[in-house]
Amino acid sequence: MNDVLQKLINEAEAWLKSPESGTDDPEKLLTALQEELGKDKAAGRTLGPLIGQIKSIQNKRKNRLKNIEPINWVAIKQGRLAIGHRPSAKLITDIQLQGGSHILTLLSETEGARDIESKVQKEGLIWLWFAMQSADPPTEDRSHELKSLFADMAKALQGKASIYMHCSAGIHRTGMITYAFLRYLGQSPEIAKDNLRHLRETTWREVGEKRLLWGERFGSNTEAKPVISSKTIIYCDMDGVLADFTPEAIDLCSRILDDSSEVERYNVSKTARKAKRKIRNTLGPDWRPATSQDLEISPVKDMYFAAIGIAPGEFFAGLKPLADAMELLWPYINNSNHEVKLLSAPIHIRRGYSPEEEATIMTAEDGKKQWAGEFLNPPPSEIIITPARFKQECAKSDGISNILIDDREENIRDWNAFGGIGILHVVGDSAPTIEELKQLGV
Ligand SMILES: [Mg+2]
Repeated sequence: MNDVLQKLINEAEAWLKSPESGTDDPEKLLTALQEELGKDKAAGRTLGPLIGQIKSIQNKRKNRLKNIEPINWVAIKQGRLAIGHRPSAKLITDIQLQGGSHILTLLSETEGARDIESKVQKEGLIWLWFAMQSADPPTEDRSHELKSLFADMAKALQGKASIYMHCSAGIHRTGMITYAFLRYLGQSPEIAKDNLRHLRETTWREVGEKRLLWGERFGSNTEAKPVISSKTIIYCDMDGVLADFTPEAIDLCSRILDDSSEVERYNVSKTARKAKRKIRNTLGPDWRPATSQDLEISPVKDMYFAAIGIAPGEFFAGLKPLADAMELLWPYINNSNHEVKLLSAPIHIRRGYSPEEEATIMTAEDGKKQWAGEFLNPPPSEIIITPARFKQECAKSDGISNILIDDREENIRDWNAFGGIGILHVVGDSAPTIEELKQLGV
């Protein structure tokens, strides 16, 4: 046997031992072996089986590649990202075959995150995990964990990693975290949205503005901070800043749960009745709300929203003013050189009234205007009643940032994301709010 043939046989045997790690081109190897076989029929007994084995492995590979689910990698930094649905064992292999190095799982443990972990590790990929129970933005207390994950991912991309990110359907959680990550990497909102679209059109379309908005907080800090000008308008929320909503709502809930006779009229609302039953069944017959957090429990919220909806104007007109706001905050902002407007969210009138009945009922807007007329001196230059999710539309006017004083964290977050300056107000405590205004030069 000549040296060339022996070298070829050694090569073929080495490749067959570990076809995955071999850098040799098996097609080239096959051609060379077949050429030798043509030249030297006597070598057939050795070469034949080798050629057969290599061909069989190659055929299996070709068949496997025919069924592969293509991964849509998008180049980000020096690496690549892809996003999608929860990966099956096959998809994890497909990701590995297409150069994937990391898989980020956004599922909770109860959704089987650990199962994915073992499959990912079996394929020799690196598993990353940020457990999310729902499609709601992660709470503030997890931002540290998320930033440290983003830092690791950014580093991996620098090292040319290919990261596949997924939740269940690959829409809400995936879209939200991907956008936040792209913003973290320093991409502008436009570029980050563009990339999200390239990564997956469905996700880009369905992720929801709210989730993208949440991701803004990870945006680069180099963007210009909003500046106050003399034209900056101060928008002031009503409930929880000027008017004492919580005790009134707690009292209303307690009276409904007590079945007290003066709230019998609320029983016309099916939603209120259903919510009352649910509260009794889940929280017990003696449970009564005591704090503003209690008012956030969903059947509780359903119940008092439905009850207030029966006569919203009456409810809002009857709220007590908050003493600190009347004595300190309202005079302070009105003595500044800024225009002051009231920006407050309504509770809608109950559906189910006939148009004639409805015409006789005071709306939230009517009630709030009546309240402002009675308690706010001087009156605001305008009273805007709009659902909370639209408040942010007032964050800027003519390119100038406006101020919002509001007791809801998410309103402040959205306001800031839209270029405004939000001040989170603590109910009943105007001093820190005034301090923040002073620091802004107001
Ligand atoms: Mg409020």
